Amino acid sequence: MLLGEDFEGHASAAEGADERLMREALAAARDAAARGEVPVGACVVTREGELLAVAGNRTRSDCDPTAHAEVVALREAARRVGNYRLTGTTMYATVEPCAMCAGALVQARVRRLVYGAPDPRAGAVESVFRVCDSGSLNHRMELTPGVLEEECRRVMQEFFRARRAK
Ligand code: ZN
Repeated sequence: MLLGEDFEGHASAAEGADERLMREALAAARDAAARGEVPVGACVVTREGELLAVAGNRTRSDCDPTAHAEVVALREAARRVGNYRLTGTTMYATVEPCAMCAGALVQARVRRLVYGAPDPRAGAVESVFRVCDSGSLNHRMELTPGVLEEECRRVMQEFFRARRAK
C-alpha cells in the first residue's frame, strides 16, 4: 500500500474504495447464505463510484440456473441505466466468476472486474479459463483479483462446512 502511494498519489484511496465496495458484495453474499444460497455476492459501480446494483446468488430462490450474483447484478444495473452496455462500470464479485458470468461481463462491456477469492475449480477469469482478457474476444477488461480475498473465501468455507455438518 505504501509502495503504491509512492508511485501514484491516488493509489491508496483507490484501494480503500475497492475494499469498501467489496464489502457491499460481501453483505449480499451473506444475505444469500441466509436464504440457503451459495454465498456469492456482486455489485456494479459507475466510473464515478455510484452503486448501480447489488445482488447475491438467487439460483434456488428463483429456480434459475443463470441467476448467479453477477448476472442478477448486471441485469439490474442495465435496467437502471436503460442500456445493455455497461461501458465504464466496475463489477465487484466476492468469488472469481464462472464461464457464464465472465461471458456476461464481456457482453456488458464492463470496464473493470474486481474479485475476492479465486475459484480453482470453475473460475473463468484466471483459474480454469481466461474469458475476461482473451485476445479472441472483442472486449477485454481490467482485472483486480484478491480484494478482501480471505474474508470472501471464509464466507464460502463457513457455508459449505455448515452444510456438510447438517
Ligand atoms: Zn457465475
